[in-house]
Order: sequence, then C-alpha cells, then structure tokens
Amino acid sequence: MKFFDKQISGFKNEISGKQESFFPFSEKKWEDAGRNEIVMQRDTAFELQGTGFELFTSERIGDDGVVVVGEDLKDLKDKSPFARVSLIELDDISDEQQAHDTVRKIEYIKYHYFPKGYMVRTNSLSFAENIRVSKKAIKDGISFEKVGSLLISKYKENPAVKAVKVFFVTDKTVDYSKILALSEKSREITEALDHVIRDLNLDCNTCKLKAICDEVEGMKELHFKNAVN
Ligand code: SF4
Repeated sequence: MKFFDKQISGFKNEISGKQESFFPFSEKKWEDAGRNEIVMQRDTAFELQGTGFELFTSERIGDDGVVVVGEDLKDLKDKSPFARVSLIELDDISDEQQAHDTVRKIEYIKYHYFPKGYMVRTNSLSFAENIRVSKKAIKDGISFEKVGSLLISKYKENPAVKAVKVFFVTDKTVDYSKILALSEKSREITEALDHVIRDLNLDCNTCKLKAICDEVEGMKELHFKNAVN
C-alpha cells in the first residue's frame, strides 16, 4: 500500500532533527478502563488539544514501539501542543476491497481504547484528538510509553497489522499546522478510497476527487480497475 507514502515522508520530515525517545512495545501497557472515563475538571492535571490519525504502509517500519518527540506526560502542562500519529504496517493485501475495509476497521480502533485516567475526545469529522489526563494517573506513573503500548496492543488484534509505531509529539518547535494538514490529506485519501471502491462513475473531468487522484499514485488506476472488474 503506497497511498500514504507522501504523508509518511512529510511527517518524518516534520520531526526530523528533534529529540526523540524510542520505547519498544512492551506488556507494561497502561490499564484499559474498558470504556471512556470522564475525567472531571477538578481531577484534571492538564488538557491538550491536538491531532491524532493513522498512516498505513506495506513497507517495513521496523519493530513495534512508541516514539516520544518532546516531553512526556509527567512534564506537560495545560495547552502544550500535541499530536499522535500511528504508523501502521499492513500485510500487502492484494484485494483492494479488503485493503480498504482493513484501513477503515483499524482507523476505528482509536474510539475503542480507554487508558485509565486519560480521557480521549475525538471528532469523527476531523482528526482532532483532545486528551485530558487525571492527577491520579500522573501520580500513578502514566507515560506515553504505557498509553502507546496499550494502543499498539489494540491495533495488533487485527491479524493484518504486522507492526506499529505510535508517535506522540509535544515538541514546541514542531510546526503543528503542517501535521494538521497531513491529517487532512490522509482523510481525503481515505475518502477517495471509499469512492473508488464503491462508485462506478468514471468521469474524471466532473469528479470532485480529481485533485487527490492526480496527486496520489495508483488511485486512478485502482478506480478504473475496480470499475471494469
Ligand atoms: S479516477 Fe477519476 S473518476 Fe475515479 S475517483 Fe479519480 S478523478 Fe474521480
């Protein structure tokens, strides 16, 4: 799967040269509360507003793990910048319908992980991801390594997932508007995939997805191949 290659290299460019720490995926994951917990304002250590999204590839990405670019949870304050990007290596699925369904299923996982004392609020129409962390979770030693390991374990319940790297970015020198733009582009790509899998209209001149199809290698070919099969 090459559809997200430009977004992956764009993201890597944004964090290149920043100080980062790598934590191999471990079973020291944070406890899953089983459902989204409400962290009340009075119990909150801090709240962050940012972006969270997935990027998919069938290229090797190395070992599973969590990469922290910037400060970890114990050092953050209210309104620190924040982004979570999950880089996910999938089996090279030759059936496009199956590949598309797998991407959609895996994107859904972010609504189904519930780290204790770490309230995640997302917006299904955008990739906004806001988190509220409780004072108790900070006291109990919550870290991105543990939260990320929990998320990785959820992704890996899907047998098509071969490896995952979850990046948590809080470095103040990163250009977060560029990460937001990458998330928007990746959403356009997924929407275009929805269209090419389902829609038999092949008139590129009137199609609202022409710009994204011109940009993403293989998208047009996929639509035409799908339509004749
Ligand atoms: S191939 Fe043409 S019709 Fe199909 S999605 Fe792309 S621009 Fe639209």
